Amino acid sequence: MAKKKAARRSRTAGPGRAGHKHVYFFGGGKADGNRNMKDLLGGKGSGLAEMTNAGLPVPPGFTISTEVCNIYYEQDRKIPANIDKEIAENLKKLEKSAGATLGSNDNPLLVSVRSGAKFSMPGMMDTILNLGLNDESVEGLKRRTQNGRFSFDSYRRFIQMFGNVVLEIPKEAFEHEFEEVKRARGVKLDTDLDENALREVVERYKKVVQSRTGKAFPQAPGAQLTMARDAVFRSWMNPRAQEYRRIYDIPDHIGTAVNVQMMVFGNTGDRSATGVGFTRNPATGKKEFYGEFLINAQGEDVVAGIRTPQPIRELEQVMPKAYKQLREITTRLERHYRDVQDFEFTIQDERLFMLQTRSGKRTGYAAVIIATDLVAEKLVSPKDAVLLVDPESLSQLLAPIFDTAEWKKIPAATRGLPASPGAASGQVVFTADDAVEWANRGKPVVLVRRETVPDDIHGMFVAQGILTATGGMTSHAAVVGRQMGKPSVVGAGELEIDEKNHVFRVSGQTVKEGDFISFDGLSGEVKIAQVASKPSEILQVLNKTLDAKKSDIFQRFEKLLSWADKFRRLGIRANADLPDQAELAYAFGARGIGLCRTEHMFFGEGRIPIVQRMILATTEVDRRKALDELLPMQRDDFYGVFKAMHGSPVTIRTIDPPLHEFLPKREELMVEIARLEATGKQGRELEEKRKLLARVEQLHEFNPMLGHRGVRLGITYPEITEMQTRAIIEAACRLNKEGLKIVPEIMIPLVGHVKELKDQKTVVDRVAEETMKAQGIKIKYLVGTMIEVPRGAMTADQIAEVAEFFSFGTNDLTQLTFGFSRDDVGKFLRIYQEKKILDKDPFASFDADGVGPVVRTAVQLGRKTRPGLKLGVCGEHGGDPASIHFFEKVGLDYVSASPYRIPVARLAAAQAALSVKVGD
Ligand code: ADP
Ligand code: MG
Ligand code: MG
Repeated sequence: MAKKKAARRSRTAGPGRAGHKHVYFFGGGKADGNRNMKDLLGGKGSGLAEMTNAGLPVPPGFTISTEVCNIYYEQDRKIPANIDKEIAENLKKLEKSAGATLGSNDNPLLVSVRSGAKFSMPGMMDTILNLGLNDESVEGLKRRTQNGRFSFDSYRRFIQMFGNVVLEIPKEAFEHEFEEVKRARGVKLDTDLDENALREVVERYKKVVQSRTGKAFPQAPGAQLTMARDAVFRSWMNPRAQEYRRIYDIPDHIGTAVNVQMMVFGNTGDRSATGVGFTRNPATGKKEFYGEFLINAQGEDVVAGIRTPQPIRELEQVMPKAYKQLREITTRLERHYRDVQDFEFTIQDERLFMLQTRSGKRTGYAAVIIATDLVAEKLVSPKDAVLLVDPESLSQLLAPIFDTAEWKKIPAATRGLPASPGAASGQVVFTADDAVEWANRGKPVVLVRRETVPDDIHGMFVAQGILTATGGMTSHAAVVGRQMGKPSVVGAGELEIDEKNHVFRVSGQTVKEGDFISFDGLSGEVKIAQVASKPSEILQVLNKTLDAKKSDIFQRFEKLLSWADKFRRLGIRANADLPDQAELAYAFGARGIGLCRTEHMFFGEGRIPIVQRMILATTEVDRRKALDELLPMQRDDFYGVFKAMHGSPVTIRTIDPPLHEFLPKREELMVEIARLEATGKQGRELEEKRKLLARVEQLHEFNPMLGHRGVRLGITYPEITEMQTRAIIEAACRLNKEGLKIVPEIMIPLVGHVKELKDQKTVVDRVAEETMKAQGIKIKYLVGTMIEVPRGAMTADQIAEVAEFFSFGTNDLTQLTFGFSRDDVGKFLRIYQEKKILDKDPFASFDADGVGPVVRTAVQLGRKTRPGLKLGVCGEHGGDPASIHFFEKVGLDYVSASPYRIPVARLAAAQAALSVKVGD
């Protein structure tokens, strides 16, 4: 297959073909690429090119494009000769620009080999530094720099990184040798090792390589480079990179680029350093220069959490000139990119070099602060600001915080760096796998690690929070924690973690696996207790327990969403069943209810016995008696829901689930009957249980989701539809009399045939007429349907003859289009995703490819019959940003989401309107 593709490629212009550009040079103030070429060069490569073009001090290098990554996989993990040639030419150019030669013994060029995809994937792909060193060139480097310590420090780093990333030797194998040498010499810090000690480390490392791989450490720099390049491509498909992409919905096919760049050295001594930073605080959004650095170190040390880095402010004292230049450059970068920048730099003998810049990942909290600040500073327009915030991240602002009074009662056991805000309380686990296992059992867990590594990502994902003992504000745990919106405290150095025995000790206490702890990602405090949390500031304002004027974050949140409202086309409604949910949804900005599930009202206090009586009734008369009792309760609920929406439209769905859901489980009843029988007592209770069991057995269905539910119930028991219609119309009449104009929308579920809808509409219309007459008032109401059965979608033109609106029930529609039971899909979905049959869970993110056309067809057919037919969506997808993009494209009128998702939906709808067009 690869051959066939290659053949096709050679006939047509395009990737892989000679003449097509695969490698992009940067250096000497000029670059082949620029900021708009992220697809091809990856984020890192495009940033390096842009910075080079802007005249910033960037070490020269070249980027092998993401297309080559795909070619590598298509051609059975090989790079074709023409591309190898292009790389060789660029290497020549680099050597010229650097004035040094790869593999030279007296003036060796050293390079880094850096991965970089379009989307930054922190720690996912591995970088190799100091490539080009071998037993001879290291001596050459020493002669040239007169710095033996530095030369051998670079060499040992290179062997370790290359050994780990390319040769796949576990890090521990090297660390073990390193520790041995340190111990033998009685030193604590890496920087305390002198040249001789480092020479010994190198010798030991080479032995590790020999014994682990059966081969000597590769000495030829050309081979080193090829092997490193291929390792980067290989790492694109490693499990943790795949896991990361799965979580963040990044497709596999975009590939990674490889950047080969001249090394600059932060490890030449005390006048050198390396660091990372942000132009604004990524945790709080505060406008402050933020970051950290390490003197006499190379890049990996800062993020790896080996030494605790210094705050960047202190750089001003140690190297004022470089500091000033760094501030100027990064301020310029922020203005240029019109967004917060996350940058990496190295200082070699007081000379500053920029090594990376990109838009900084930030917490939802910081995102809102930064977006509103940037508008206030006139750096961006409100429209840009709307596009700057990830809609999903807004939900972090709704996450709970600790009750201050409760929190203060417990003394802090220790304190770490506040890496990602939020209140975390849960049971301690020490490994990512345990976190997943406990979470699957419904336990709230917090993941406690010495430091996290990319392999921990699945555990971090399910944890309430992340606590680590080492590492700084830009360590892996901090970066990933912020991005996931997980409360995280890092570098809590007093924790003595015994990962093997699953305990940690701190301030004289021992905490075992499963014990509760709590920590605050905003202050860094850690407490050994379960502490109750309370609603976030935003929710407090919405619940009216906090004055909006006193909450800065609330005001900014409101401002951002009010901008979003200006740009969105889609209406935003809520899925809300009860008055208090409707109120909250309204406060969040929903203007309407897209789905009120009436059956949820049946579970209210004291109602279930009445509902059961209704179900158990053997005659219509008995059934009506029970329904008459339910009527006033439903009416009052509807009244409350209407009122909470202040006149915005409310769609009420008639009963949907199969009746057995309101009855006890068969097995439970059997056990109870057996118990009663065992006591020997006969009596009413036993009699009733037996009757109930008989009815439960009668109602039993092999496939209830495809059984007697939805419109089918209304058709067989029209008195249920009658009661619900009466309750709806009575409530609406009452409110209309009170002066609130309500136009109820009565929605019949699960319609697949127009005659089903006709049957129910006749009932609704008749009862509505009667009710209005009795109430002495005429009101407007609509009758519509859910489109959730494929047959309904395919005959939407006929259905629209009767229906006055459609609401797409995308949960059922997905279930029925795929033929996947929503309740059973969990058993195989994971495997489907692993085997790449499906990228995403279609129940979480709408399947635009397969279910999309069904929706599109229904939209077209429905509007053909009834131009201007009101269309909405009320499945779970209504609150999912990617799905909202699709609904914008097909031109629905509104999306409906659960109350807490409303802010996300408002922002996502604005972004959709700004980035796609109806009809695309
Ligand atoms: P990541 O994507 O994990 O951040 P990078 O490719 O950015 O990996 O490399 C990590 C660090 O390695 C950089 O921040 C920088 O400190 C160091 N580094 C990379 N390339 C060079 C180079 N050419 N010279 C000096 N340091 C480098
Ligand atoms: Mg980097
Ligand atoms: Mg449904």
